[in-house]
Amino acid sequence: MGKVLFWIVIIIGALLLIRIVASYNAREQSDSRPKQAKKRGAPPVEHAEAMVRCEHCGIHMPRSEAVLSDGHIWCSTEHAKLGVRQ
Ligand SMILES: [Zn+2]
Repeated sequence: MGKVLFWIVIIIGALLLIRIVASYNAREQSDSRPKQAKKRGAPPVEHAEAMVRCEHCGIHMPRSEAVLSDGHIWCSTEHAKLGVRQ
């Protein structure tokens, strides 16, 4: 019985230690990032998606919405077919 109690204490202690370390890391990250953002006066760039430009019409859109083909970026498959506008 004493052995079981000993292991329960060890497991609870380990879980507590993991939680303390995890919350310490989370606090450290959330403390350092807003300070940098305040200095720059802009929201953190890490969360913003990269914007790309259609090579036919020049419209800007998030990278996830763009059509990529042959190393070129297009807003739609129609503009990918039309190619680069001269
Ligand atoms: Zn386009």
